[in-house]
Amino acid sequence: MKQMEVLIVGAGPTGLALALWLTKQGIKIRIIDKSSGPGETSRAMAVQARTLEFYRQLDLADAVVNAGYKTPAMNMWARGKRQVQIELADAGEKISPYPFVLVFPQDRHERLLVERLGVLGIEVERQTKLLSFEDKGDHVSALLRLPDGQEESCTAAYLAGCDGARSPIRHEIGAGFEGGTYKQLFYVADVVASGVNPASEAHVAFDKSDFVLVMPYGEVQQYRLIGTVRGERAEHPETLSFEDVGQDAIRGLNVTVDKVNWFSTYRVHHRVTDKFRRGRVFLLGDAAHVHSPAGGQGMNTGILDAINLAWKLAAVIKGQAPNSLLDSYAVERQTFARKLVETTDKLFTFATAEGSFAEFVRTHIAPTFISVAYLSENVREYMFRIVSQTTLSYDDSPLSEGKAGSVQGGDRLPWAPVAGSDNYALLTAIGWQVHVYGEAQADLSSWCQDKGIPLHVFSWQPNHKKAGLAQNAAYLLRPDTYVGIADPQGSAAALDKYLLDRGINLKV
Ligand SMILES: Cc1cc2nc3c(=O)[nH]c(=O)nc-3n(C[C@H](O)[C@H](O)[C@H](O)COP(=O)(O)OP(=O)(O)OC[C@H]3O[C@@H](n4cnc5c(N)ncnc54)[C@H](O)[C@@H]3O)c2cc1C
Repeated sequence: MKQMEVLIVGAGPTGLALALWLTKQGIKIRIIDKSSGPGETSRAMAVQARTLEFYRQLDLADAVVNAGYKTPAMNMWARGKRQVQIELADAGEKISPYPFVLVFPQDRHERLLVERLGVLGIEVERQTKLLSFEDKGDHVSALLRLPDGQEESCTAAYLAGCDGARSPIRHEIGAGFEGGTYKQLFYVADVVASGVNPASEAHVAFDKSDFVLVMPYGEVQQYRLIGTVRGERAEHPETLSFEDVGQDAIRGLNVTVDKVNWFSTYRVHHRVTDKFRRGRVFLLGDAAHVHSPAGGQGMNTGILDAINLAWKLAAVIKGQAPNSLLDSYAVERQTFARKLVETTDKLFTFATAEGSFAEFVRTHIAPTFISVAYLSENVREYMFRIVSQTTLSYDDSPLSEGKAGSVQGGDRLPWAPVAGSDNYALLTAIGWQVHVYGEAQADLSSWCQDKGIPLHVFSWQPNHKKAGLAQNAAYLLRPDTYVGIADPQGSAAALDKYLLDRGINLKV
């Protein structure tokens, strides 16, 4: 029987990210998937800045950026005319080292993650299906069906359900999946198209209650289309072809689709589970939350679930933290998922609402409002923060404490570039670390040394202040780089108490 600490079920982007982060921390895993290979369709296209920031921990960010496509601008069309052009290239230049919207189709993304996992010595076990499992209190036992049809029993300390929107694991643990299903049917298509103008930019067109999003991904005349199918046609998705979907919005862009390489329809739900954790079983990614693809958040949220859980599982398995640390996974990720589903729901409802008033607002008022608002740097930054998930904070978490400057426990460490370098260059390891901007107290360096926690002291610069950091304060960063405690006094005692209160002992 193969020894393992975590059994990961599902090798979509969420399961692969979890496998990478756990393996990197020395945790023994198995990752299984009932399918015979990675997904072959493009599905999720956007890789958000926050995901790329984390990919630095695996030395993966550059590879993804180089393989992806930086969308230069987004154009909004209504009534057959371009109403607004929104520059995206450097929308977040003051916020993140990845200030753009990166398009990297999910099939290529998954293949890259599988490859990296292979480099770490882990192969995804394909055509291997989880049949059943039982949480025995001190471990989980599971029954698998192997590719040759044989069954295998195995045990693991924890089970990670990364098994997608239909998640058999979610059903098995009796978790709810509250929310609803949109009446519209979504379609996605990879096409060869002409007339897209400008050809290298993204376009979204509104027409009555239809909309279509056209995204280039760096190959000549190749585009990804996302839109909705309405009315009776939506009731029989199995018989639909690309020709059957509403063409009005596409025509409104003056675009001709010359060839359809891939076309698929799917129902979109907006749901969040009420149990991200039950005992030794966790739900992550689409298994825990699903929502409209508006804003390109789904896959990124799954990857961030995995990163949030991985360091906590590693700490508990290594005996460095009590089991209760794992409860914070549910608290932190459920709160975020609920907010996200609410926001994407509002956006989607606005984009597809029927009726002449809704149509008037969408095609007349919204474009004018957006074009004026986007001229303001504050609005541009705000929009980038929301979409890129850089605004996400765990400030209500039991792991979050204190405030120094405008940065509080639970916040993402603000990015502060200074003369060709930045404070993110040190966020490449998966481990606790302390940042001081200014001068560190003497007892802080000896405390860090004693605990084996790296202390990084940055000479105080105006950019640190601009980013909201406080001079000489101490910021204890968690292994997922969020601020655990921010102590304005920079005192070792405060950091010591923070770890003690949570039963975290890194010297085990
Ligand atoms: C047609 C389509 C288009 C989409 N377009 C977009 C988009 O434009 N933008 C966007 O953000 N998102 C989009 N999505 C959603 C996006 O693909 C998902 O959010 C993402 O794949 C979620 O990743 P995941 O790893 O959580 O789950 P999945 O990718 O669903 O992976 C789950 C894996 O679990 C495996 N599995 C399930 N049960 C078992 C079992 N019992 N034993 C072993 N393995 C099992 C499955 O084989 C699967 O590989 C789209 C989805 C679809 C289907």
